[in-house]
Formats: sequence, structure tokens, C-alpha cells
Amino acid sequence: MQYVSTRGRAKALGFEDVTLAGLASDGGLYVPEVWPQFSQAEIAALAGLSYVETAVKVMAPFVAGSLTEDELRDLCTKAYGRFSHQAITPLVQLDHRHWLLELFHGPTLAFKDVALQLLGQLFERFLSRRDDHLTIVGATSGDTGSAAIDAVAGRDKIDIFMLHPEGRVSDVQRRQMTTVRAPNVHNIAISGSFDDAQALVKRMFNDTEFSTRFNLSAVNSINWARLMAQIVYYFYSAVRLGAPERPVAFAVPTGNFGDVFAGYAAAKMGLPVARLIVATNVNDILHRALADGDYSQGTVVPTATPSMDIQVSSNFERLLFDAGGRNGVALAEQMAGFEASRAMRLTNAQREGASALFRSARVDAEGMGLAMRWAYEGAAQIIDPHTAVGLAAARADDLDPTIPVVTLATAHPAKFSDAVERATGTRPPLPARVGSLFDREEAYSKLPGTFEAITAYVADHATPRT
Ligand SMILES: *Cc1c(COP(=O)(O)O)cnc(C)c1O
Repeated sequence: MQYVSTRGRAKALGFEDVTLAGLASDGGLYVPEVWPQFSQAEIAALAGLSYVETAVKVMAPFVAGSLTEDELRDLCTKAYGRFSHQAITPLVQLDHRHWLLELFHGPTLAFKDVALQLLGQLFERFLSRRDDHLTIVGATSGDTGSAAIDAVAGRDKIDIFMLHPEGRVSDVQRRQMTTVRAPNVHNIAISGSFDDAQALVKRMFNDTEFSTRFNLSAVNSINWARLMAQIVYYFYSAVRLGAPERPVAFAVPTGNFGDVFAGYAAAKMGLPVARLIVATNVNDILHRALADGDYSQGTVVPTATPSMDIQVSSNFERLLFDAGGRNGVALAEQMAGFEASRAMRLTNAQREGASALFRSARVDAEGMGLAMRWAYEGAAQIIDPHTAVGLAAARADDLDPTIPVVTLATAHPAKFSDAVERATGTRPPLPARVGSLFDREEAYSKLPGTFEAITAYVADHATPRT
């Protein structure tokens, strides 16, 4: 399989190169040159397969040329071996038509584990083949940091440096990062805000000499391999609810549009997806874009769903490219306009392409609380605030009621216990496997939030390329 850039100029690359590169050299994102096609019979044949075997079938066409099926199986077995539920992503029924797809049974209780555990395996396999070394640098306001650290801890071809704003992440979130004791894990608390940390990381990537010397890499959701891993659970859950004979709809709590784009990919591959409901909180740029074609950036309002508090949605570019007719040169121009004015209109082709599958909804704090209580009182399910935003959008949608709707449950409720307790009166306990967080010793360095301090620290602790 070859991958092309959404901005039309970078050269097409195979899966291994795309995984290690992350962003394309023209500033675009990689997408498959063609969508692999699954026939009805092939989808029907997924019934009864384990998660790992489903993953091998669904991802094999994407990794063709870089990994054999046996190699892929081996990596998936390792990646999903650390999940605490045998179904990996189990379905839970809420009423006659609403379901939850629990994506939080990985080591850090966030749905990001599903993709990052596999990405860690892929990195290691590809780097040992090339005898190369990677330095991952990232800034986190919470969930991504711990999932990324957990995925690469102890791997000798990778160093990871994770910056968090000192005193501005929760104790659980900080401890999930700082109690991982491995020689390749470097946690840094910087003075300043998350945006300051993010700006430092960006500046490091833009320093070509520095970034080449240490082979810097990012692990955010622009990496194609992350999206690919997320396609699997759309197939896995839809087949359990009757696909391919019966179509299924999905409601997705959305931030960077990675998770829901994986659902779009599944539909393009032949899965009968009736509808993809994009749920946003009051930071609603995606809702405005899908409902009215208005993609204009506002200022971020902090909410109880921090992983959806975004005003630019990096993976949305992939949809604009694919749904809008795959014209990379035109999209590069459109994106340059957006970067200059922080606003753009979707083209008619992009709007029509998207409206075939997508609907969207904006859910405020009240709608979120109502959904949490509905799940708790009607089905004894304690859900996290992000999941509740998705469920509120699912329940508000005007879809044909005979079609089952699956809401993606993206975080374990214990990660957001204060908000859950406020809505339901019940405080969800941390599962035993992370419960010992508060007994473990922490290790992290505190640094001033200056470029000089951070680069000097990374240069001292990372492995330069030979
Ligand atoms: C990252 C995240 C999201 C948003 O996912 P995207 O792929 O960025 O749209 C939603 N919920 C939770 C809990 C997350 O961690």
C-alpha cells in the first residue's frame, strides 16, 4: 500500500516510512492511495473472530509491503495482550437501540491506548530493522502523555520526552506519567501553561538541525498508523450488531477528528455505516463546519471534557481531502488560507461529500450531565464526561430508530471522577491495576519554560543519530 499527502506535493511512501515520518514533508497528512475494499462475504467472515484476528484482517491491506500477516499478528498480540478485558473493546447495551463501545480497557484507561500500544510495537519493529533511533518529544495536558509513555517505556530504540505544565495536570494524570520508571522515559514539568509547552515542542521540531540530529518524532493523532488501528473496532463492533446485513451508526466524542475519521475509513472500506455522529462540546468548530460549512477558529473554552477542548482539528484535513475530490494542490491553497486568516468555508464538494455520512451536534454541560444520569439511572452504567457528550449527541439524532447506535466510550469514568460524582452522586473508583499509582515513587525534572533549558536537557539525555 502506498500513501499520498493531502497537500499533493510530498512523494508517496509505503506504510513503514509513513509510520516513522508522521507528518508529510509538504505539511500535509498521509492517506492511503486507495481504500481497501471488503466484500459482504469478507465482512460476514469476521463474525466470531477475536479482536486480534479481526485486527489482522482489517489492517493487513494497509501494511502490505511492510509487514507480513504473521508479523502483524505478532505485533497485535503484544499490543492488546495488556488490555484488562478479553474482548479488548467490549460492547455494553443501554436500551433497545443504544450501545456503548468501551475503548478504555488499556493500561492507562484512555481510548488512546488502542492506537498507541500498537504504534509502540510498530516503532520498535521498524527501528530495529533499520538500526535507527527515534526521539519522541511531546507536550501533554493529560491523557496522550501517559498513553504514549506507557506504549514506549523500556524500548531501547526510542527515547520519550514528555512536557507537562507544572501543577496544571491532575494528580492521577501526572502520576500515570511520572511513576513509569524506565531509562528511556523523561518527564519534564515546565513552568507555564500547556500552550507554552506546546509552543516549545513546535519550536524544537522547526529547528531542522536539532530535529534531524535526534530524529525527532511526534505521537499525536496525525500519524496514519494510529488512525488505522482505530478502524478495527468499528468493524469488530458492527459485526457483533449484525453487519453486514444490518447497518450500524456511531456517535463519537470528537476533538482532533482522528477517532471519527477511522469510522469514515471503515465506511469507505465497505462496512455498512448508516451514520457518523460527530459530538463536540461548546468548542464547536467541527459542528459549525459540518452543519454550515463554517470552519473558523474561536478561542478555547475549558470544559469538563478537556480532550475535546480544541479549536483546530488536525485530522479534519483528511476528510476535506477525501470527501472533496482528492485535489491536494487545491487543498494546500485552502489550508494556507486557513492558516493565514484562521477561517475558511468548505467547498460544495467537501460539504456534499461529508453530508452523505456525517451529522454533528454541540453538547453543553447540561446535556452532558443529563446523558450521564440517563445511563446511570436507566442502565446502571457510569460513563465519563467525554462519553456522555457522545451519548447526548446519539440520543438527539433523528436517525431511523431501527438502526443500532454505538457511542464510543473514550475514557474510564475514574479518570474524571469529580465530574462524574457531580452528575450522578457516585464516585467511580480507580481500577485495581492503576490503584497503586499513589504508592509508587515519582520521577520527573522541573525546568523553566525556555527553549534553551529544554533543548539542553533533551540533548543531554537523548541518543543522537549515528
Ligand atoms: C483524545 C480523546 C478524544 C478525542 O478524540 P479525537 O480522535 O482527537 O477526535 C475524546 N475523548 C477522550 C477521552 C480522548 O482522550
